Parts: sequence; C-alpha cells; structure tokens
Amino acid sequence: MNHGAAGPLAWTVKVLTLFPEMFPGPLGHSLAGKALENGVWALESVDIRSFARDKHRSVDDTPFGGGAGMVMRPDVLDAALTATAGPPGTPGRGRAIYLSPRGRVLSQELVKELAATPVVTLLCGRYEGVDERVLDAHGLEEVSLGDFVLSGGEPAALCLIDAVVRLLPGVMGNVETAGEESFERGLLEYPHYTRPAVWTDGQGVERSVPDILLSGHHEKVRAWRLAEAERITQARRPDLWDRYAAGKTAEGQVVGKRGRRRGPKPE
Ligand code: SAH
Repeated sequence: MNHGAAGPLAWTVKVLTLFPEMFPGPLGHSLAGKALENGVWALESVDIRSFARDKHRSVDDTPFGGGAGMVMRPDVLDAALTATAGPPGTPGRGRAIYLSPRGRVLSQELVKELAATPVVTLLCGRYEGVDERVLDAHGLEEVSLGDFVLSGGEPAALCLIDAVVRLLPGVMGNVETAGEESFERGLLEYPHYTRPAVWTDGQGVERSVPDILLSGHHEKVRAWRLAEAERITQARRPDLWDRYAAGKTAEGQVVGKRGRRRGPKPE
C-alpha cells in the first residue's frame, strides 16, 4: 500500500512486513505525518503474505535442526524482495536492510547516511527471524535497534524511519536545533528549562532555572551548555566521552581533536 503523494525528491521507504497495517502508524501523526502528506517522504508497505504460493499462504516453517519457534521462508521472502525492487529503470529497492538484533546498532551517523539515500527497503522479521540464505542471496545489511529482543522488526522499522524523516529538509521547523542535539557533536545534550523561572515542586521545594540562562549573555550560555553537555556525557556515557575526547565520532571516525578543555588531563 502506498502512503503520501510522493514529491519528485521524496525520500522513499519500502517496508516488507507481515503486518502492513502497522504502517504508517505513529508516523502518520505530528511532524512525520505532515511531511508524509506533503510528499517529503513516501511509504510503500509490502505485505509479505501476498507472496505466499501454497494454499495455506504459509510464510514460515519449522527450523531445520530442531528447536522452538518458526522461521520465515526464503522463497516467499525472495519473491517479496524481487517484486519490491521493481523492473529495470525504476528506482529499485535502494539500500536494503533487515532489522535484526544481530546487526550493526543504529546510530545518528547511520541515520544521516540513510537520509541521504533516496530509496531504503526495510525487511521486518517475525517469529525466530528469517532463513539465513535469503540474507546472503540479497546481500541484506543487518541493522539493530539495540541489545534487546523485540517480537518483530516493525517497531524497529518505525523508529528508524522516524529518526530519518526528522532529518529530511523542511520536516523540522527549527533547523538550528538539529545541530545541537544529542549525538550530533558526539555529546549528549545539555539540560533544557522553560517558564516558570521558579517552580515549586510537589514537596514544596522551590526549583530555579540556572541564573546563567536568564543572563542574556549568549556566549556564556553557549559555554555553559557545552560544559553541561560534556559533564553529562562523561558521567553517563564513558564510551561516548572517550571517543569525543579523542576527537572521534560516535562510530569511531577521526574528525579532529575536541573536548580537551574539560576532559581528564592526559596522562
Ligand atoms: N531469534 C532472534 C530474534 C527474533 S525476534 C534472535 O535471537 O536473534 C523477531 C524479529 O524481530 C527479528 O526477525 C527482527 O526482525 C526483529 N527484532 C528483534 N529484536 C530486534 C532488534 N533489537 N533490532 C531490530 N530488529 C529486531
């Protein structure tokens, strides 16, 4: 099923799933929903079951070697993937990804790469996953949402698409905010505050906003925010901090030294 009136430069995502009705789901609302309506991106959800050929329309079978659960059949998935690619001369299936806990963990860098890729195809697994041979035959990349197990690839696909769509031109009202967010500079984000400047919590404690944010000194505010981002990253994510201090991105590419000012003294 197709959603959205694709503009000429629309970022296109094709989702292969046993549950096409789960899409666009939450992505039909708010910023992503508006962008879908406006043709900034386009969604094609492909029902894997429609490629089943036997009379029971079965898409899965028991695992060779025994064990619990069911495995998605390679012949059915192959037919779905081949049809999704379309005939020669069409945009094809672009970068094809199987959402899987064994994959490379999704990062903001990968999200940016995908936002710059015109067509992305996502295969959502169910049950114990898919027959390994179809991954090899189609050269599917595996991408994971994190070190935990979901019951299906659909929630992972929704998260991935959400992260990409918000980077597409025109989707976020305030383009500037994107550059300061968590992970953009290899740091977690600084804390945010809004009105009222003094807020009394449920225990009667008065909680004020840090004075510097009310000072109107833009340079000092910037310095305070960077210092807070560095403090929080160092405390919560030593893995990110080490890379940041070494001048590397979250995925390890060298981008030049940063963060030495407040970092631990070199030994
Ligand atoms: N037996 C598999 C888990 C299968 S879970 C294993 O132990 O590795 C069923 C489906 O959910 C998978 O095929 C995959 O598409 C999806 N899935 C589960 N966890 C995921 C994760 N962390 N990231 C992305 N997709 C995931």
